[in-house]
Amino acid sequence: MKSNDLKTKERLSIQRQKMPERKPAERNLDFNEVNLGFDEHLAMLEARRCLQCKKKPCIEGCPVRVNIPEFLDLVAQGRFDEASRLVFKDNVLPAIAGRVCPQEIQCEAKCVRNNKDGSVAIGHLERFVADWATRQHGDEGMDDEVAEPSGFKVAVVGSGPAGLTAAAGLARAGHKVVIFEAFHRAGGVLVYGIPEFRLPKNIVDEELKNLERLGVEIRCNVIIGRTYTVDELLAEEGFDAVFIAVGAGVPRFMNVPGENLKGVYSANEYLTRVNLMGAFKFPEADTPVFKGRSVAVIGGGNTAMDAVRTAKRLGADRAMIVYRRSEAELPARIEEIHHAKEEEIEFHFLIAPVEVLGDEKRWVRGLECVRMELMEPGEDGRRKVRPIDDSNFVFDCDTVIVAIGTRANPLLTKSSDKLQLNQWGYIDVNEDGATSIPGVFAGGDIVRGAATVILAMGDGKRSAAQINQWLRSGKPEFNTAVVR
Ligand code: FAD
Ligand code: SF4
Ligand code: SF4
Repeated sequence: MKSNDLKTKERLSIQRQKMPERKPAERNLDFNEVNLGFDEHLAMLEARRCLQCKKKPCIEGCPVRVNIPEFLDLVAQGRFDEASRLVFKDNVLPAIAGRVCPQEIQCEAKCVRNNKDGSVAIGHLERFVADWATRQHGDEGMDDEVAEPSGFKVAVVGSGPAGLTAAAGLARAGHKVVIFEAFHRAGGVLVYGIPEFRLPKNIVDEELKNLERLGVEIRCNVIIGRTYTVDELLAEEGFDAVFIAVGAGVPRFMNVPGENLKGVYSANEYLTRVNLMGAFKFPEADTPVFKGRSVAVIGGGNTAMDAVRTAKRLGADRAMIVYRRSEAELPARIEEIHHAKEEEIEFHFLIAPVEVLGDEKRWVRGLECVRMELMEPGEDGRRKVRPIDDSNFVFDCDTVIVAIGTRANPLLTKSSDKLQLNQWGYIDVNEDGATSIPGVFAGGDIVRGAATVILAMGDGKRSAAQINQWLRSGKPEFNTAVVR
C-alpha cells in the first residue's frame, strides 16, 4: 500500500510503537546494547502514523534539517534504501543520532501528534533506516556525491559530532579535509563518554567509514595547541581554513573536603577508562578501574546516568544518583532515567554532598550530605536550592563519581592570542560560526558549553557551508565586529 493512500483516520488509529529492549535483569550484567531496534514491520507501522503535515513542523526541530516527512513516507512504503539515502543527505551520522539525539526536545517535540497520543518515533525510525542501510551495503557503505576538487585544504580540530559533520560537509564540497584528534581513536564523546550499552562502538566505526570514503583523513594522537597551533596550521601547514570542535571535556569538581581520596573519580575519567580504554576487561586491557560495591554518582545529567549504569554493570550492589534538585529538574534524557530506574539504580533527590569521608588508608568510606529545599526559579529558569539546617547524614559508599558538568579546555584556546573567548573560556563566534581569526570557525561544545550531539552536528553542518562559501568567494576579510 502506498503511504499516500492512507487516510488521516487510519494514521491516527495507529498507536506509537514501543522500542524493543532487553530485560533489565539481563542487560544489567553486560555492556551490550539495551535497545534492540525496530524490525521492518514495526518501522512501517510507526512510519504510517506520520500525518504528512504540509507545514512540516518537525523539520524545524532538527538542527541538521532531516527531511522527516519524506523519509517517513518512504519507510511507510517499505522503500528503506531510498529512505536511508534521503536521511544520509542531511545527516551523516544517522545511526548515532537515531540512538542518542534528545528527540523528545528536538524534532519529536514539534511533531503535531506529540500532545495527543505521542509523537511519531522519528529517532527510532532514523536509527532503523541507518542500521538497515549498514546491513544492506556492508563495506560499500553509503555512496555520496562529491564536488570536483577545489584545491582548498581545511583542518578540522576534534573528531566529535561537530568535527565529523563539518568534515563530511567540506569533503562533499570538494575540499581536502584533515581531522586532527588528540586521542588515539576518533569519535569524541561518542567513543569515550557514551557507553557501549547505549551506543555500540561498531556503530560509530561504521559511520566513520562513510567519512573516510568521502576522502576525509583522520590523524589521531595530534594535539592542536601542542603539536601545532591554529596559527601554524594556517601559516605553515598549508591549510586555508580551520574548524575548531574540541568539545568541553574538562571536568568540574564539587570543591568539598575529601575530593582527592582514592575512589573518587570525575565521570569523564571513569567513563573514559571503561569505554575508551576497555577497563571492564582488566587485566586483559592495560587500564584498570575500581569496581566499587557501593557507588554514589553526583549529578543528574546524561553523564551521571551513564556513570551510574556503568557502575551497576561493573558489579556494584548499590549504584545511586545523588542530585541536589528534585526529579522534575533532572536534565538527563527521559529514556535514560527510565532505563536507569528499571535497572534498580537508586535515586536520591534534594541532597547535596558536603564531604567525602575516607578511611585510614585514604580510601572512600562514605559521603556526608545535607538535605536541600527548592526555592523560586533563578534567572536561567531553573529552581534554586538551599540547604536545610541540621539535616546532615552519611551514605556508606566506597566510590564517588562526580558528574556535575564540564568546562572548556584551555589547551588550544590559550595557544592563539587572537582567538576571542567569552568570560568562561568558550570561543566567541558570529551567526556563521566565524571566530575572531579570519579563516577560523568553531562549533559544538567549545562554543556552546556542554550541550548535545545534534546541536554540535548542526554547528558542524552550518560551519561547513559557511567555510565553503568563504573559500569560494575569495576569502574576504572577516567583520570581527559582529562577533558576540
Ligand atoms: P566532543 O564530542 O567533546 O569532541 C571533541 C573532540 O576533540 C574529542 O575527541 C577530543 O579528544 C578532541 N580534542 C580536544 N582538544 C583537542 C586538541 N587540542 N587537539 C585535537 N583534538 C582535541 N548528548 C546527547 O545529545 N545525547 C546523549 O545521550 C549524550 N550523552 C552524553 C554522555 C556523556 C557521558 C557525555 C560526556 C556527554 C553526553 N552528551 C550527550 C553530550 C554530547 O556528547 C556533546 O554535547 C557532544 O559530543 C559535543 O560534541 P563536540 O563535537 O563539540 O565535542
Ligand atoms: Fe530528530 Fe535528531 Fe534525527 Fe534530527 S537528528 S531528525 S532532531 S532524531
Ligand atoms: Fe509527520 Fe509529525 Fe512531522 Fe507531521 S509533524 S509531518 S505527523 S512527523
